[in-house]
Amino acid sequence: MKPSEVPQLLAEIALADPRVRRTNEIEQAAQTRMWAGILADVPYDYAVRAVQTHYAKSTWPILPADIATQWAATVRDRMRRDIDPTPIGVDPDDAEAYRHALAAHRRAVATGQQPVVEHQALAAGPEAAEVEARMAKLGDYLTTEARDALAAYRPAAAARTSAIRAGHPDALSVDCPVESCRAYVGRPCTRPGRGGARHTLTAGAHPSRTEAATTAMKPTPVVPAPAGAWPTKNGTAA
Ligand SMILES: [Zn+2]
Repeated sequence: MKPSEVPQLLAEIALADPRVRRTNEIEQAAQTRMWAGILADVPYDYAVRAVQTHYAKSTWPILPADIATQWAATVRDRMRRDIDPTPIGVDPDDAEAYRHALAAHRRAVATGQQPVVEHQALAAGPEAAEVEARMAKLGDYLTTEARDALAAYRPAAAARTSAIRAGHPDALSVDCPVESCRAYVGRPCTRPGRGGARHTLTAGAHPSRTEAATTAMKPTPVVPAPAGAWPTKNGTAA
């Protein structure tokens, strides 16, 4: 704000708080000089808004430092969020002009003449659906294409993938409940062979394991409690 704007600001403040304005002429001149020095970087409109905010929640007289520190915090926040976008229409080989354009953008953002240029979040906005589709295609450590190409050589894994894709229960997502098997999550079902050997079941998982996976998929039904049957603190129904 220009020094010439300070008397106008003090007059506005006096409307809310007459204590701030000096009546003695010498004091008035000194006050104007002091405020002008402290608020040199602060735009006039910002200072007026800061004064309004201050008196909306405080009965203490406002100090120029209250406005200056608020302004500094606002500038810090804007600079932290701004990404220094590439200047458009400036020859990047012209270092002088390029630096000048960058500095001009920063100044304009700091003083609020230009909006902050922020990174766009990948997970939001019109591109979100496309990103999601790409992520689905990507798979995890194997791309979906690679997984499909390898399907012939990994029949168990392929069967599992196609079951998951079709929304069928994935038996390998649970431990096998069969006593003689007890295969862990992700491991195929086996049956005991001679001499302590284990044979992998070629026909797929044990049926009770598939059943257990089906149960795990279904949400537990919520049974509403009958009215007036809330248990009391000692556990018996009222
Ligand atoms: Zn099993």
